[in-house]
Amino acid sequence: MHRTVIFLALVSLATSGFAQATKPAIVMAQQWGSSPQPIDDSRKHTPHWITIHHAGEMWLAKKSPDQYVRDMQAWGQREKHWPDLPYHFLIAPDGRIFEGRALIYEPDTNTKYELKGNIGVEMMGNFEKQRPSPQQIESCAKLTAWLCQELKIDPDHVRGHKDAAPNQTDCPGKDFYRYLEDGQFRQWVKELLEGKSPEIRGGPPLAEGPTDPIPTTAPIR
Ligand SMILES: [Zn+2]
Repeated sequence: MHRTVIFLALVSLATSGFAQATKPAIVMAQQWGSSPQPIDDSRKHTPHWITIHHAGEMWLAKKSPDQYVRDMQAWGQREKHWPDLPYHFLIAPDGRIFEGRALIYEPDTNTKYELKGNIGVEMMGNFEKQRPSPQQIESCAKLTAWLCQELKIDPDHVRGHKDAAPNQTDCPGKDFYRYLEDGQFRQWVKELLEGKSPEIRGGPPLAEGPTDPIPTTAPIR
């Protein structure tokens, strides 16, 4: 009798598993003052991909990241008729993660690809012209691992925007895309999913640049 109970307890421990990715800190939509518009039910989806982006706009640290997120939401609603941010998460140069669109809805985009199934993770900055910060790379890996775990997405389904929309964009920029291209990013994600603590560190500047690091940002509000 006792042996059965102990056996079942061990099985339960083994299947629930100690090893797992930890949830990173996230600035929730209500905290940064989000004003989303309603999204049609036809836009609900089941996530299969984590698609990584850069903003494609130089980050010059002229405003705080929370103001940047509010401005992007308002611009999209006004100019693009997007009900909410086009991305599900946005990562500031200081590594803070901001919640965007609810995960249950497909994202929005300026390019043409099958939107359903994508979770969009954006990093502020233009990684064709400036270098992602170490904190951004680390937050992006930790967030991606946690999303893979919670949404049951295979780490091999982590890709860049340009993989989803070939010949339409250079997003997420060459100084981040290289970690997707050489498999390093997915390797970090896999190790985080196994409960390990990989050293998440970007490489040296690419031979053809960029060389300028992204400037750090002012604290929230
Ligand atoms: Zn993109």
